[in-house]
Amino acid sequence: MRVSADVDLADLEQVSTAFELAHPLDILRWAGDHFGDELLVTASFGDAVLVHLVSQAIPDAEIVLLDTGYLFAETTWYAERLRHEFGLNVRIVHPLATAEADQWQRDTDGCCAARKVEPLQRALVGRRAWITGLRRADSPTRADAPIVHLDPFRGVTKINPLATWSDADVDHYSQIELLPDHPLRDRGYASIGCWPCTRPVTAGEDARAGRWAGSAKTECGLHR
Ligand code: SF4
Repeated sequence: MRVSADVDLADLEQVSTAFELAHPLDILRWAGDHFGDELLVTASFGDAVLVHLVSQAIPDAEIVLLDTGYLFAETTWYAERLRHEFGLNVRIVHPLATAEADQWQRDTDGCCAARKVEPLQRALVGRRAWITGLRRADSPTRADAPIVHLDPFRGVTKINPLATWSDADVDHYSQIELLPDHPLRDRGYASIGCWPCTRPVTAGEDARAGRWAGSAKTECGLHR
């Protein structure tokens, strides 16, 4: 599938609808063909699925890991392992030096703004498209996420190639591709972010229940 260089919101809606039954590899190939060097992938390295798919479809694509300064050591190790095994083009983006220390103890929204949202904004400079690992099954707040749309806050085309995949789809892909698990998975961490704001979940809990547990916060601000 191709769309013209002058994509507008109506075109993106059509593309998104057309991709509802597509495999993520086809969506990623379309993104690579259409946006070339002007696309950026972000990955949290909570699992290997998105980055493995990217390595198959658009192997030269730049994959950004937003290192908030509070990642689990296991995540940093896992990202390096996947970079090496899959030949990923990984760039680690850090917060500005002015980011307040330990802000998460007082103001989680401000901390996420300084350590995730601002670094993403910097990483997207000069890019026209942003690929994420967001899935509708992640949480009720993501249940209506389109596959392709214009991110009005950042002025780029946002592409969620895994939007339609269930947890079972992710597990199935991981199994058939023999992907290594994040080392915290078997300790109950179903969704893995920063260590101060992530706890393991118990059986029956939503995967993201362990993120900012005990507060009303459900998103860091990357996905609005
Ligand atoms: S998840 Fe927690 S530690 Fe990480 S940037 Fe947000 S508030 Fe800060």
